[in-house]
Formats: sequence, structure tokens, C-alpha cells
Amino acid sequence: MTSSIRISPSVSLAKASVKVRGACPHDCPDTCSLLTTVEDGVAVKVQGNPEHPQTGGVLCTKVSRYTERSYHPERILQPLKRVGPKGSGQFEPVSWNAALGEIAGRLQAIAQRNSEAIVPYSYAGTMGLVQSESMAARFFNKLGASLLERTICSAAGGEGLVQTLGGKVGMKVEFFAEARLILIWGSNSIASNLHFWRYVQEAKRQGAKIICIDPRKTETAEKCHEHIALRPGTDAALALGLMHELIVNNWLDHAYIENHTVGWPLLRERALLWNPERVAEVCGVPAEQVRSLARDYGQCFVNGEPAAIRLNYGMQRVHGGGNATRAVACLPALTGAWRYRAGGMLLSSSGSVPVNRAALQRPDLLAGRQPRLLNMISIGDDLLRDSSAAFGPKIEALIVYNSNPVAVAPESGKVVQGFAREDLFTVVLEHFQTDTADYADFILPATTQLEHWDVHGAYGHTDVLLNRPAIAPVGQARPNTEIFRGLAARMGWTEPCFADDDETLCRTAFSHPDGDRVDFNELLDKGFATLPVPDAPFAEGRFPTPSGKCEFFSARLAAQGLDGLPDHVPNHEAAGTSVSFPLAMISPPARNFLNSSFVNVKSLRDIESEPVLEIHADDALARGISTGTVVKVFNQRGDYRVKAEVSARARPGVVHGLGIWWRKLGMDGTNVNQLTSQHLTDLGHGPVFYDCLVEVQADTAPAS
Ligand code: SF4
Repeated sequence: MTSSIRISPSVSLAKASVKVRGACPHDCPDTCSLLTTVEDGVAVKVQGNPEHPQTGGVLCTKVSRYTERSYHPERILQPLKRVGPKGSGQFEPVSWNAALGEIAGRLQAIAQRNSEAIVPYSYAGTMGLVQSESMAARFFNKLGASLLERTICSAAGGEGLVQTLGGKVGMKVEFFAEARLILIWGSNSIASNLHFWRYVQEAKRQGAKIICIDPRKTETAEKCHEHIALRPGTDAALALGLMHELIVNNWLDHAYIENHTVGWPLLRERALLWNPERVAEVCGVPAEQVRSLARDYGQCFVNGEPAAIRLNYGMQRVHGGGNATRAVACLPALTGAWRYRAGGMLLSSSGSVPVNRAALQRPDLLAGRQPRLLNMISIGDDLLRDSSAAFGPKIEALIVYNSNPVAVAPESGKVVQGFAREDLFTVVLEHFQTDTADYADFILPATTQLEHWDVHGAYGHTDVLLNRPAIAPVGQARPNTEIFRGLAARMGWTEPCFADDDETLCRTAFSHPDGDRVDFNELLDKGFATLPVPDAPFAEGRFPTPSGKCEFFSARLAAQGLDGLPDHVPNHEAAGTSVSFPLAMISPPARNFLNSSFVNVKSLRDIESEPVLEIHADDALARGISTGTVVKVFNQRGDYRVKAEVSARARPGVVHGLGIWWRKLGMDGTNVNQLTSQHLTDLGHGPVFYDCLVEVQADTAPAS
């Protein structure tokens, strides 16, 4: 197959036993460098590259088993066309020629009526710049399809950073090893940021104190010196309480505040409203714990020692996620922690990656058109809408790639109803027959990371990586790029950009009119390149904000009629506000899954065993629930059934529906997103997966 596919002019697939350098494609801050051992054209092992400092030769359990995924017996190996009712999962094989021809014909017919009735749906199934939004974006831009607001993961936190620090920027992760105090805030690092955890271990050996702030007593929280189990959605209140204590104890770097921040008098006034007793009431933690945390943070300033915060995206999937991120991001400027390379904070480093998105995605192909923008979080509602002046045309076609919305989008009862529409034309590019693929009219087999070219930035370190194909595409699988090139050809489009091969697209990613920002030859030689980011980027201020300062007060937010200062924004569904649904539910990922990826890898699913709801002993006792009891978890949006696990990981009043199980592999063909809502965050139009009230009861009905 490869000879007819424009993957690369210089691709040479391994014949004897060789190691091929690649990059992990998954949505994880670590972006590891991979070494794939290939023997006679077969990938036999995937390991961490020991030459890449951020990887250090170590991969997580999930990706160590990547060959199991690429050669999975249930891999889709040829194009499939639906033969049964929607959702029945009944398909028959068809040729690529027939599949692409029929899909192009259907899209052309819809586009002639209104191209905005066609909607792309994609996210971070691969983080690769080429196999995500390069040729695909060109295709949809030329078509004039609806645009997709891709905000389902990190948008609130990202916007919070932009409004405070000026971009998705922060500390270099390696310097956490030198910090004296590390706050791990909203992150189960051992499960989802493993390589950062290595730096924490180093700091711990050097005597640093490690504190975890998380509603759940995670594997990470267990290994820290202290765990602060606050209620979900109250992180901004805790950050404001810390500011209160920094102010009243004068643990403040006045010179840094004076020279490098904006809005201090206003923030000071706001923070003084948050004494530890008020914080304790909102967060559900002892006031003394708030004081003690502030003392630890403030003493680093007093002693001239670096304090570092590793924030992760868990805490921003609530109504006030943007404000919470802003509040936390203000802390290092108050104590001048940014003066040290081991001080400050890190949520995301992706703002440092010099991607030329315009060259990759070619928005000029829109040719002046401005299609409507649909938010991916509200796909459940949007698929059920009719045409209207406000909404525009009813959605007639959905092209899904790098995503599994039937399992991962909120309020999945509505998502399923929408996907089940017989009048909806759905194409899914996939490796496996996921919950979403079950509803496709066509499933097109996509290559895995071992089979295609790509380039990657990272959001947890400041290296960029190249992924070379290690093996030929399995079966008739094709890279996403090739599939969209094929569709473009059948649409009759002749623009030269639709002929770019994948290696050209890789080179385009970091090219700029004034010169390449990354030496592509270095990527070809080593597999990675380190970006020239300063060690202590904000030691002298120079934040990438409009003012050049850390913006405690954001004039940009105020100009939009929003609060210019960070504040505690209560959850849409705040604990204690519903008699019917008294428990707050969060849905963090099960340790051996990554969102909905890997759920079908048997060896990993066997470790997780089955969907579980963690519940505190008091809440379980009050409901007659013990470990192993099948429970019904429900709210106004629906219900799902799982096994209960009475667990010290849960605090009273909060339950954990670990995710994200494929619906068809859970009980009754549902999963936790049956209960989550389509509400949005305060900033960034993000999701509120962890802002969800439920009730739990023992269920004696037999599992189906
Ligand atoms: S999922 Fe994360 S830790 Fe695992 S290999 Fe990929 S980048 Fe590394």
C-alpha cells in the first residue's frame, strides 16, 4: 500500500532489526521520545528513548504496550460501510475507492445546499501537528464547513493563563527538581504526568516539602507530605485565602509586585475578603490547614528559597475553572517566586512551541467566508437542533477523527440520540470500532503512531519531537492526511497544498517566513530538539501580556464586561445546593486509560477490571453500600451503573466515577458521561466535567 501513498519522498521502512525514533502521540504533558524496535518490518517493542532527557528511557505502562495496540486483533484494517441500523455496529468491507467516492459525493451534495451543515469533530486522539489539524483543516477550510471550537479539555485554564501571564507559559519542568516547596495542584502526576514526578522525587530527596491539593486522595497525594482534600471547584477560594495570609503576614516581595504586576491594590482588597475561616467553609478544609499552607509558601519567600506550583487541568473543569487558574497564577508574583528558575508555576508550556498554524491549516482557503463556530462540548444539543436563524443549518454530516465523542462528550444520552439520527451522514476515521464508530456510515481505517510521520510540541516540557514511521501501515490503514488528500482529490480540488506529502507537512509546522524556528535536520538526526526558552523566564518580569506584567487585573476581561480580578466562581452545581443530588461527582481518568484510549487494550483493561465508583465510608454507610455493591448513580440527566468501592481516596460528600470507559464495555452500555452536563466554564468555553451533582443508591437489578 505504501508505494501509492504520499507519506514521504524519503520514507524507508525498516527491513532488518532497527530502532526507529518516534514520539508519543497521546494527550499527556510528557510527550515522550519513543524507540520502536522493528524486526523484519514488525514492531516488536516500544521503549522510552534514554537519550531524551525528559523521557529518560521510561514510558508509562500504557504506551509500553503500544505494539499491543497497533497489532490489536480488533484493529480496523479496511474501509467499512454500514449495513445495519445506526448504532448496531454492523458493517461490510468496501474498497477505498468506493468509500472515498461515495463520501465525497455525499459531502458535495450537502455543500451545494449549505456547506456549514457539514461539521468536523476532532480533538487530541493524536497530539501530532500533522495528523491532527493540517490536511484535515485545509480540507474543511476549502469546503467551508462549520468551524469547531475545540475546547473540551484545557480551554478554561489556558484562557486563565493567557489573561494573567500572557500565554501558556511557565517554569521549565526540569527545575522542579531544585524547588524547596512543590504544590501539586489538581494533578495525579504519578498517573498522568509521570516524568514530572521524577523531578518531584529528586526535590524530595533534597529535602523539599511536597503538598498535593486535590479532592481525591490519589496515588500522588498518598506520596506527598501533605494532602489538602478540598471540595471540587473551590480552588480559587483556597488561592485567595493564601493571598490573604501572605498579605497579613507580609510575606510579599514588594519590589517584584511594584515592578512586574498590574492591579495589586485591587487584588489586595479582594484577597482580604478571604480569611482562612471563610476559605475553610467554602473549601471544606480546616482553617489551620489554609494557614499552614500559606506559611509554607510564605516562608520560602522569607528564606529566599524557590517555591513551585504544578497545576494541571483537573481543577479547571468546573464553572470557575478560568478564575481558579488566574488566582493560582497570581501567587508566584506575590512572593517573587519567578525570580528563581525553580520557582513560579507550570500549567502548560505549549505557548513556547513555534507552530506556524496558518501554513499548516491554510485558513486562506476559506476565501473570505466566515462559517459558524460550534462548540464541541454541546454536540449533544447541537445534533438535535433543527435549522434556525440563530443556529444556522441543521447538522447533516459529521466527520469524526482523533476523537470518540459518544464516549467522551458530556450528557451522552443526548449525544447518542444525535448520533443515532438516520438522516445524519457520519464518517469516522479510527483504529477501532469505538462507541462513536458504531454510529458511522463509513469507518475509515487510520494509521497508529508507529505507521506515519508527525511532529509534536509538548505542553509539559519545552522540546519538540519528530515521529518517523517505524512500520508500514497495518492492513489498508492510511494516515489521516492521506485520507483527506484522497477526499480532496475526489472533490476535484487542484490547489497544490492538497498534494503536500507528510514529510513536507512536518517541515512546514515550524517554518516561518523569517526562517525555521526548529532545525529539522536536528529532528531527523536526534528525534527531538530543545527550544531556546530562558531558564527563569519571568525573573525580570517581561510577561507576554499587553502590559508586559503579570496581570492581577485584566483590562481585557474588564473590557468584555467580566470581572477583571480573579474570584471564586461557585460551581454550576455546587455541593449542598440540591436535596435530590447531595453528592459532588468528579470523573478523573482511571490510571491505565488515557481518556477513552487504551480501554480496549485487554492487558490494561484487566488491571482496571471494571468501572468503579469510589465513595467515602460515611456516604456508603448512609446508603447501605459496601465495596462490590452494584450502584445506580443518577441525576436529572440520566443514570449509569457501576460497582462501588468504599475508599479512603474519597472525601465525604464527593464520589469519583473513574473514566473514561467505553460505553459498550461498561454495565448497561453507558458510562459516567451520562451524568455530566453541557454547561461551560467562566472563561474559554471549556467543559465542566467535575462540576456535577449526583445521588447514589444500591441497585439490585442484574447487570446487562
Ligand atoms: S502517555 Fe505520557 S508518559 Fe505515557 S508514553 Fe505518552 S507521553 Fe510518556
